[in-house]
Amino acid sequence: MQSKSILIVGAGINSLVAANYLQRAGHKVSMIERASRVGGACISDSAMIAGQAQNYALGASVLGLMQDFVFKDTGLAQRLKTFVPDHPKFIHIAGEDEPTWIYRDPVELDRELAAKWGERGKVEAFRADEAKVVEYLQSGYAAAKPPSIKEATDVLGQVLTDLWISGSARSLLDHYFTSERSKIYMAMTVTESGPVPLDDPYSAFTLPLMDSGSIFDGYYGFVKGGIWRITEVLGEINAELGVDIHVDSKVIDVDSDSNVVTFEESGRERTASYDFLILGTDPLTATKLVGTDTELEKTGQQKFRGSSGKLNLMFRNPVQWKHGSNAADSDAAFRFIFDVDSLADFERAALAVTDDGVDYVPGYMQIYCEGAAMRQLNHAEPYDRLAVFFKNFSLANNGAALPEIEEEAKRKVLAFVNNPEDCVWSRMLTPKDLQELFLFPGGNLDHTMLTGGQTFFDRNYSSDAENNFYRFGDLENVYLCGSGVYPCGSVTGTPGYMCSQQLLRQITPQ
Ligand SMILES: Cc1cc2nc3c(=O)[nH]c(=O)nc-3n(C[C@H](O)[C@H](O)[C@H](O)COP(=O)(O)OP(=O)(O)OC[C@H]3O[C@@H](n4cnc5c(N)ncnc54)[C@H](O)[C@@H]3O)c2cc1C
Repeated sequence: MQSKSILIVGAGINSLVAANYLQRAGHKVSMIERASRVGGACISDSAMIAGQAQNYALGASVLGLMQDFVFKDTGLAQRLKTFVPDHPKFIHIAGEDEPTWIYRDPVELDRELAAKWGERGKVEAFRADEAKVVEYLQSGYAAAKPPSIKEATDVLGQVLTDLWISGSARSLLDHYFTSERSKIYMAMTVTESGPVPLDDPYSAFTLPLMDSGSIFDGYYGFVKGGIWRITEVLGEINAELGVDIHVDSKVIDVDSDSNVVTFEESGRERTASYDFLILGTDPLTATKLVGTDTELEKTGQQKFRGSSGKLNLMFRNPVQWKHGSNAADSDAAFRFIFDVDSLADFERAALAVTDDGVDYVPGYMQIYCEGAAMRQLNHAEPYDRLAVFFKNFSLANNGAALPEIEEEAKRKVLAFVNNPEDCVWSRMLTPKDLQELFLFPGGNLDHTMLTGGQTFFDRNYSSDAENNFYRFGDLENVYLCGSGVYPCGSVTGTPGYMCSQQLLRQITPQ
């Protein structure tokens, strides 16, 4: 096999995973990244508190959607320690004094939801059917095979395909659950990255999609130090393998006729040529670089909206939760707070922020106890930290311009804590911040919304998706592997892996 020169634009998780597989397959890979370090939206920042620096996750916080084989194949598994809380999650719904426990065991969960929320539906069947869909998705990831409704129907049958893939989240939830609160809890996943209506076709698919990670069997957990160690360490591994990484270098032009990229590095314009080009960016940036006017118009009309905010909190002493258990990992369990107690209010809040006249409509908060997880991993730090991922924000304002919302969010979290006076630092980001910091076109964590026409088989930019799913338009040697292509965003690297395999098949047809 002749070694090819492969140029990758961007050095987020997907580019890093693609680079790793391609360099190990014997090709010469170079990466060009606009920022001063690798990582994209999976990076740290540092808070200076009373003269001491404390790192925290600026973008992503928890790891879960990555495939176990990607973690191992890339070399990450040999260098990083992880921890996943076994403890049931704690759910606080507006108006309830005691939390509901989300057990891993479907029988225990069934019992808890019946007792707390009066659930009379098919909780065990929900988990069992979801596991079948997840297994189908995971086998497609491993084989780097783009999804298709025909194949899904062959494997899963018509009923499960209609319910779990092409159907709406509302019909899925109505099928398995009777309690409004169970439905709200499950619906959370659908609106996680953007304001998707629960009646949207294919909105059901986001549920199995978000549970299709295999690194922790569909659960989410932590990396020793912080999740940004994934991209930092993968950057190091790639450099050791011989990948040439340019940071502080922004690609400004691609001449796809002569296969030459122009980029700015240290204020100077430089060029690089390639046999194959991979765009590891968001699709709008990619289309601006290589797309035709028609493609640009089409991409410009996509739904990009995100509605997630993030609040990082630091404590000078470990957080003491009012609710918990005696189990060692109780403090590291995930905690969710819902401001709404009906599905109608949930959806109203989720969709209200598509109007930029509104800044924030309370929906739910997901609390990730990063500091407690670091203690489980024996990683000592000066401050305890929480990462709170919460809803719903419009695209109108930056976090720094909304101090009253930051205070309100802090108050809500600290109401569940016995030592609120120990909270000494906070920083809130809104979708507008994510748009500016990470170039997410509409602030969406998946680069584009996960909605009908933009998910499952439609999540590609190829003019010949059946034969070459990750190709960009009709350019034979240009690929797209950022979070805007199947399956989705998150710190997973699955689009990067699948794209690399497709490219390898093009270089060496089987
Ligand atoms: C606040 C927040 C919380 C999140 N929470 C989680 C979480 O807990 N768990 C999880 O799994 N995921 C989470 N995510 C989502 C996850 O971080 C992203 O989906 C993922 O990191 C995207 O990776 P990527 O490689 O596709 O793209 P990106 O990380 O967006 O990387 C694209 C890269 O391309 C570079 N680039 C763009 N244009 C150019 C150019 N012209 N020239 C050179 N380089 C260029 C960019 O600088 C960037 O580094 C979160 C994201 C945010 C922002």
